[in-house]
Amino acid sequence: MPFRSGFVCILGRPNAGKSTLLNALVGEKLAIISPKPQTTRNRIQGVVHVPKRKGKGGGQIVLVDTPGVHKPDSSLGRKMMVEVREALEGCDLVLVIMDVTRKFDPRDQFALDLLRRPKTKAFLILNKVDLIREKSKLLPLIEQYRKLYDFAEVVPISALKRNGLDTLLDMVIATLPAGPAYFPEDQITDQPARFMAAEIIREQLLLNTSEEIPYATTVIVDNFEEGARLTRIAATIYCEREGQKGILVGKGGQMLKKIGTSARLQIERMLGTKVFLELYVKAEPGWRDSRRFVEELDWRRQLEHRMFEHGTPAHGTPQHQAEDSGAPAASIADDGRNHTEDGRNHTKD
Ligand code: GDP
Ligand code: MG
Repeated sequence: MPFRSGFVCILGRPNAGKSTLLNALVGEKLAIISPKPQTTRNRIQGVVHVPKRKGKGGGQIVLVDTPGVHKPDSSLGRKMMVEVREALEGCDLVLVIMDVTRKFDPRDQFALDLLRRPKTKAFLILNKVDLIREKSKLLPLIEQYRKLYDFAEVVPISALKRNGLDTLLDMVIATLPAGPAYFPEDQITDQPARFMAAEIIREQLLLNTSEEIPYATTVIVDNFEEGARLTRIAATIYCEREGQKGILVGKGGQMLKKIGTSARLQIERMLGTKVFLELYVKAEPGWRDSRRFVEELDWRRQLEHRMFEHGTPAHGTPQHQAEDSGAPAASIADDGRNHTEDGRNHTKD
């Protein structure tokens, strides 16, 4: 029985459950989740190590979660679609994931169009079947999709309830070619911890804010010093307008404190150390339309820059030096005190 391995891209419209599926298959939270579309902005690799079982060989699946397929209307959106295309390049199998509670719409068609060039081996994954009482309702959907693409398999699952995932894993492994393990046994993602910390903060922004704020915000980790017992992190939340900054800070700094505390607890769980988290909020008008700014957000690019500048991907050095625009920045830090100084709205938790 050969060891099988390969790259498997998860593709679909926003909110179909791609990131939930990635986390469920890997067994760890690698990608942030929210009920809001376009939560995922970068492609994320998650590694599933499948042990040898009775009558079945072992393998390694490198899953690649992608941003939701959509027609972009900003530099950020275009970058997200570049991430989708790069994830599709050279993958061995694509899992086209659809939300069975939604009607087929142009975004689903757009995802299928991406598949046609070049023609890629694909499974159709019908997600959220936990929300459908009569499973026979799935049949017309399957019919409709089968007419549009020649899927190798159709697999109904619930990523949230973890139903149907063992069957899916077996089918994926059986489809992959014989090959080497691409990642060592103890590695489950290619994401650096500092980027995951930024994502955890962004998840709290998505969960605690509404209307345009989730889409108008991003997070950059400015400093990440990992110690054996304590990790010091300083991060800046960028929004697009002063008004949004006010909402993000909240009355008496309450909102920022809530976001900071929830994020800190999660980062502590991820790193296994105590975390001292300092959060700043800055308005950067029109950042989503700034190609330069959007490119700076890409951690793969940041790593390349650092390799180029220092010869090594230095850990713990600032990922991004936020330029001081002179505008007052609001901040919060988890050190148990509250104070205000120098016109800066310093709120400490
Ligand atoms: P993505 O945009 O495709 O990555 O979707 P997410 O994984 O972020 O999930 C979007 C929303 O759908 C979240 O609120 C998830 O909790 C929810 N969701 C994902 N999978 C399932 C599922 O199998 N069943 C149900 N009921 N909800 C799900
Ligand atoms: Mg996602």
